[in-house]
Amino acid sequence: MLRLTDIKLPLDHAPEALREAVVRMLGVAATAVGAIHVFRRGQDARKKNAISFLYTVDVEVADEERVLKRAKKGNHVALSPDTSYHFIARANGAATQRPIVVGTGPCGIFTALVLAQMGFRPIVLERGKPVRERTKDTFAFWRKGILNPESNVQFGEGGAGTFSDGKLYSQIRDPKHYSRKVLSEFVKAGAPPEILYVSKPHIGTLKLVRIVEELRTRIIALGGEVRFETKVVDLLRESAPNGAGRVRGVVVESGGVREELHSDHVVLALGHSARDTFRMIHHRGVYVEAKPFSIGFRIEHPQSGIDRARFGVHAGNPLLGAADYKLVHHAKNGRAVYSFCMCPGGTVVAATSELGRVVTNGMSQYSRKERNANSAIVVGITPEDFPKNDSGPLAGIDLQQEIEARAFVLGGSTYEAPAQLVGDFLAGRSSGRLGEVIPSYKPGIALTNLATALPSYAIEAMREALPVFDKQIEGFARPDALLTGVETRTSSPIRILRDEACQSVNTVGLFPAGEGAGYAGGILSAAVDGIRVAEAVAASYVAAGEARALAGGEAFSDPASCRAEANGRSDLPGQTA
Ligand SMILES: Cc1cc2nc3c(=O)[nH]c(=O)nc-3n(C[C@H](O)[C@H](O)[C@H](O)COP(=O)(O)OP(=O)(O)OC[C@H]3O[C@@H](n4cnc5c(N)ncnc54)[C@H](O)[C@@H]3O)c2cc1C
Repeated sequence: MLRLTDIKLPLDHAPEALREAVVRMLGVAATAVGAIHVFRRGQDARKKNAISFLYTVDVEVADEERVLKRAKKGNHVALSPDTSYHFIARANGAATQRPIVVGTGPCGIFTALVLAQMGFRPIVLERGKPVRERTKDTFAFWRKGILNPESNVQFGEGGAGTFSDGKLYSQIRDPKHYSRKVLSEFVKAGAPPEILYVSKPHIGTLKLVRIVEELRTRIIALGGEVRFETKVVDLLRESAPNGAGRVRGVVVESGGVREELHSDHVVLALGHSARDTFRMIHHRGVYVEAKPFSIGFRIEHPQSGIDRARFGVHAGNPLLGAADYKLVHHAKNGRAVYSFCMCPGGTVVAATSELGRVVTNGMSQYSRKERNANSAIVVGITPEDFPKNDSGPLAGIDLQQEIEARAFVLGGSTYEAPAQLVGDFLAGRSSGRLGEVIPSYKPGIALTNLATALPSYAIEAMREALPVFDKQIEGFARPDALLTGVETRTSSPIRILRDEACQSVNTVGLFPAGEGAGYAGGILSAAVDGIRVAEAVAASYVAAGEARALAGGEAFSDPASCRAEANGRSDLPGQTA
């Protein structure tokens, strides 16, 4: 097949226009062109009143070689690359020792799925509940303010992104097309097929719940085992006097009972909120370092205003859906301020996993039909900003907890979130009543002054950035736009450093993975890292003679990717150190 890129067509083009454009581009007779598969459909919205679609397509064409030769250089025609997934190994049957995967977020799910597909029968451990039970607990918190610290927006089957907009795009380097594997598995599990080709796919919360359940069913059908309400509370780590060690398994706690599970292959896909587990592995001697993250507030506007600012006369066109945005400003005090996790037509959600703390985040349903648009406006911080205390590389967690606890008190100590109108925030006065923007946050907001909610450098940088953003998106700094605090869990405050075999730099057999380990920053990049780590685990079995490498499946040969940060949440500039 041939791949044709950059085919530009107007928003309201007729269905046959794409075929006509392909025929024109190839300079062949219409009868020579067979099936056309849309690989990607993006939008060019630079001119808001003349928005167009940009297609990349794979085309079956008669006499492919000749057509390709004839296509002029720069004509955007090439052979279609092979984006299919090839397994690298196969376990030696039931005798192979089972790997342990901790966490059922996108990273843990994809590590476990790919390991199961290669015959390794992983044991998957999750501290929270199955996704449907977890959904009830999460909704109880949102509606009644009753928090279950083990079952909430952060913890439970599906991980942190289950109650989310389900954005599935990323800026990671992906030479082996692992993202394609992730999206294809999502589609097989019930996601809309369009996620394979639209440039900014998203699934929304309700669909994600069903998909997560289906992926679990498949892991189990392939010989895996998934244990819920089973928390890893300790690591079995043999250690040499120089600190180097080897993992031999984990200690789990379930229903008040502790049990040792032995394995020489343990994947830690913990997510960024497993603060107790981070402390435990640090205490056990696993090498951990501090890493930058960002802090800020959620901002809400009417979605209709964002649509008008971004899409002009096309606002409301169902082909475009609800508009998003991406904003960055470099403030005079040296801080980067940027929009993060923008949720068109969505709601601001209560995302704490700890008692006495308030944390915000955002989610949408697939339809993105809610009244408001929201995003986090956050300021980048580095380990130099962390408290100088005895916590060493974990000091970023102390800072997060301090900010979250302050927000709890500012909100009235009831899990209502502290909030302020943008006009009042810029003028430095408390807010007393709402304007036209109705807050979506549940269990509710308490209007106040957010100036003390974050360190002064962050407040200063945000006060500078909002009017600048208003020049890019008219109405962004409208006086009654609403800020809700606080956003602290934008990414992990630590990195569990790993080597080119994706293993901890000082603990053989321990595979830190996904967002919590500092190697991903979103659903897709976490899932991609899960595949990468599954391959690394399989490669270590191959090296030990407990699995065989597969012909056709390229050997695990991308060591740089294990070390490199894959902090690929598309709206997350500046997070990669
Ligand atoms: C409300 C919200 C909205 C978001 N929206 C988006 C979005 O639209 N698009 C996007 O790309 N990203 C989004 N994100 C971020 C995204 O969810 C994360 O980047 C992603 O989930 C990280 O995946 P992970 O598998 O590395 O970790 P997680 O998804 O955090 O999963 C970690 C899992 O490990 C479990 N666990 C932790 N400790 C233990 C232990 N000791 N024992 C057993 N189990 C344990 C946890 O319960 C959890 O299920 C959102 C996040 C939130 C909170």
